[in-house]
Amino acid sequence: MIPELLLKKRDGHTLSTDEIRTFIDGYTAGSVPDYQAAAMLMAVFFRGMTTEELVVWTDSMLNSGEVLDFSEMPGRKVDKHSTGGVGDKISLILAPLVAAAGVKVPMISGRGLGHTGGTLDKLESIPGFRTDLTTDRFRELVSTLNVGLIGQTGEIAPADKKLYALRDVTSTVECIPLIASSIMSKKLAEGIDALVLDVKTGSGAFMAKYEDAKAVAQTMVNIGQAAGKDVVALITDMGQPLGEMVGNALEVIESCDVLKGGGPADIRELTLELGAHMVVMGEAAPTLDAARDLLVEVLDSGAAMKRFEEIVEAQGGNPAALHDYSLLPTAPEETVVTAPRDGFISEFACADIGRAAGLLGAGRATKEDDVDPRVGLQIHVVRGQEITAGEPLATVYHADQSKADQAAARLTKSIVIADAAPAEMPLIFEVLGA
Ligand code: URA
Repeated sequence: MIPELLLKKRDGHTLSTDEIRTFIDGYTAGSVPDYQAAAMLMAVFFRGMTTEELVVWTDSMLNSGEVLDFSEMPGRKVDKHSTGGVGDKISLILAPLVAAAGVKVPMISGRGLGHTGGTLDKLESIPGFRTDLTTDRFRELVSTLNVGLIGQTGEIAPADKKLYALRDVTSTVECIPLIASSIMSKKLAEGIDALVLDVKTGSGAFMAKYEDAKAVAQTMVNIGQAAGKDVVALITDMGQPLGEMVGNALEVIESCDVLKGGGPADIRELTLELGAHMVVMGEAAPTLDAARDLLVEVLDSGAAMKRFEEIVEAQGGNPAALHDYSLLPTAPEETVVTAPRDGFISEFACADIGRAAGLLGAGRATKEDDVDPRVGLQIHVVRGQEITAGEPLATVYHADQSKADQAAARLTKSIVIADAAPAEMPLIFEVLGA
């Protein structure tokens, strides 16, 4: 049976619903071996899938394990997912903000992947914070605080877990239908009504090319809508780090600054825009303009910060650390990287900036590694800024001078200085599915 399916996909034919279910169920259960699954992935890589195939493929993956059900709980449940970036701490601000605006946000996040950071690693830099809650406790938090922030349990979409690991070692990660089904199977298993996708493009994104980011975004919107969910995708710039901080505890500090009404403008703008879509989809405001006004009020009144304190406390963390940053893990050493010449900041090799933070210990080299919550980078410049030789480009927060030197060398190469200012670029390029 399986060899016939492989032949069909290899030769560019469409698989039936039964055939796709047989494959996904068999692979999850272990009756389809890795070598046949690898052949299928490679066939999909070259032949693609029709929308109908992809909808069934994703549905089979999401039903391969536990599917959360919040339907008994009043109110619409809305989540956000980012395809990953450098300095992307938006979830830490967005989840309490949208929850305080009256929408239920059951947020299941991931850890750092490759050069990108992960929400779970950032949250766990708050002393005591636990992301491994039981489903019952998660449900209780969503019911009482409108928000819970947890990691993916082993029971959610196990087919994706196996397929992702196989893709990683068979050069089949960068494949639009496989990426879209991987992300959407996990998100749809969360029991949400609506989803806002932040699809990153540019030098720090997995899909650096705009056309690829757009294709993934549109494919995810199609899958979600076919599953009866409201899905909106914003295609946003990851050509430079978001905000200034890259690193786990450092990003918690910057998130708290934004929750207190300060922080970098790009973080605030993107949070409000993603949040406005969530608030409209969550039916807490009738239009995007009304939603933005509501979120600004919630943010500036301190209600969003208060909700973050409540979540941190409820999930075992110390909320005092959100005000007294010396209670967060702090790197013992700082090294400043300066501009080698005069000019304008023209571009960032943003993935390399993520890798520089990884080198310091902010990310993992192998799955088993622990992250060092203390270390990271502060990028002092933005695209288009004029700079003079000797002015600071970045500060490296570290615990090891030789690693800091390597990171500094990488940073100097990653921040490109040119004679002329580059063309201005928007933070949000396009919204699909609205
Ligand atoms: N994130 C996922 O969860 N899956 C992919 O395939 C790529 C990014």
